[in-house]
Amino acid sequence: MGLEGYRDAELTEKIVKLISKVDLPRKIKIMHVCGTHENSIGRFGIRSILPEHIELVAGPGCPVCVCPASDIDIAIEIALQEGVILATFGDMIRVPAKINTDKDKPNDSLQTAKSRGADVKIIYSPLDALKLAEKNPDKRVVFFSVGFETTAAGVASILYNNPPPNFSILSSHRLIPPPMELLLGIGDIQIDGFMLPGHVTTVIGMNPFKIFPEAYLMPTVAAGFEPVDILSAILNIAEQIKEEKASLVNQYTRAVKEDGNQKAISIMNDVFEEVSAYWRGIGRIPRSGFKLKEKYSKWDANRVFDTPHKSLCAGLDIHPSCSCHLIMIGKIYPPDCTLFSKKICNPDNPFGPCMVSIDGTCRIWHRYEGKDN
Ligand code: SF4
Repeated sequence: MGLEGYRDAELTEKIVKLISKVDLPRKIKIMHVCGTHENSIGRFGIRSILPEHIELVAGPGCPVCVCPASDIDIAIEIALQEGVILATFGDMIRVPAKINTDKDKPNDSLQTAKSRGADVKIIYSPLDALKLAEKNPDKRVVFFSVGFETTAAGVASILYNNPPPNFSILSSHRLIPPPMELLLGIGDIQIDGFMLPGHVTTVIGMNPFKIFPEAYLMPTVAAGFEPVDILSAILNIAEQIKEEKASLVNQYTRAVKEDGNQKAISIMNDVFEEVSAYWRGIGRIPRSGFKLKEKYSKWDANRVFDTPHKSLCAGLDIHPSCSCHLIMIGKIYPPDCTLFSKKICNPDNPFGPCMVSIDGTCRIWHRYEGKDN
């Protein structure tokens, strides 16, 4: 089936009817953990066509949103040094560093650091950062690298191939399975099934997610990003719940192999080690971050610039008036925040991290308001 087939209105309607016919014993809540899924859900108005007893909620699927303020503080400190170019994705520029509750003192960010003389460049892929280093041999080029397993695989491949000595990585990579497991321990969220992100499962495969049906009896389904993909995953999860089953299902077989991309996994394992990592608004999660292994330390910006002690200090990273920490764990929806889409918090003037990034739940809901809200 071509891409258009996955958006076919007739097929979509048929799947929605099948979902409505599943005789569920109670209202259920399905969580996805992917900004691209939330974008598709908003864009195609998927929540509005689901029966009332099926709730679809976004988890911590935006890597920019969960990047801790302390990592941004470190990036700013490095960027302000003489002879440094700091390269990062556009969304990261406006994310606030440590929160300042004094309204007369604006929060720091990479954008404000730019106005203080920092050479911060926006790039679109890790390879752009490498090219910057190759073109500027007299500068130290630091890639502030944020993302889940999908981005980490590309970064690992650069480091594996011996980049120039003036290139380094400030890793703020996070891994998807550990926060999913953490969320199952928060009783009042009550998740009934997981929809797995297609990008991440393409890289790491299905195996890291076996724990969810096996240990937590949680229906867990990998899904692509088109309406037919998402609705088919919802149907599968609903049927599993009705039949009191819990299986790991790959519904995105056109991209995801059971054991993922073995070459990418092997390079990631060579370059990175899993470490306990802080998630903005959520806290420290064991084995949820990637740090460069010792043999790659000459490209580790934390070593090159001697900053690792600071990453232990999280500071205040969600303003007391912002509810991003609750939105990122699927406890509330953006319109439940009193600042949502008001003058104080909108994409032109974001107050919290979830309104900054194109993968942030608040920003997505702002964009598609009227379809989902
Ligand atoms: Fe935070 Fe703004 Fe979202 Fe409210 S609407 S939770 S202030 S980002």
